[in-house]
Amino acid sequence: GPPRSRSCCYEEPPALPPSASGPFTVVLLGDDGVGKTALASIFAGAADSMQCDCEQYGGETVEQHMVVDGESATVTLLDMWDSQNGDSCPQSGDAFIIVYSITDRASFQKASELRVQLRQEREPNQTPIILVGNKCDLVRRREVSVNEGRTCAMVFDCKFIETSAAMQHNVWPLFEGIVRQLRLRRDSAEA
Ligand code: GDP
Repeated sequence: GPPRSRSCCYEEPPALPPSASGPFTVVLLGDDGVGKTALASIFAGAADSMQCDCEQYGGETVEQHMVVDGESATVTLLDMWDSQNGDSCPQSGDAFIIVYSITDRASFQKASELRVQLRQEREPNQTPIILVGNKCDLVRRREVSVNEGRTCAMVFDCKFIETSAAMQHNVWPLFEGIVRQLRLRRDSAEA
């Protein structure tokens, strides 16, 4: 369901119940034009969203309080990756969302490169990654099949979901899925 409250990253986070988890930092990666900003603005909420440019990240940061499976979580979403600034991935992030457009095969190949890069730079199996095929509403312009996306995710050992930011389809399940994966990792670290 929709989040209960939102705040700008410059504000003090509100007091959360003891069961609260996070804040988790989630980074959006992907080629230009695949829909990262569109996904981030849905995450931020509709017209009253409070997004702000955080200079330390050089990109847009949105903090959101979500309730997933009855437990609250604070997620900071970074839409910061700029392919013009070279190919290096951000080092900081508790989880990564790698987005491609199902209408753009080159963006799918870029997603694979990003996945390889993340694996090289980070411990395997430590950081949750979700591969996202966005723009699934554009059925007649599809260049990447669902099976290709799913197979790629299997090879790269990450989750997979197709979304449409335009139709607001599967966008919240994507963010809820990230929170569940982060909790699994947290719980196994505590065990
Ligand atoms: P970014 O460069 O990855 O941040 O991509 P944007 O969020 O700026 O989106 C690029 C263009 O694709 C914009 O014109 C969006 O309106 C459009 N777009 C984004 N997501 C979708 C989607 O799910 N479906 C459709 N049809 N268009 C989308």
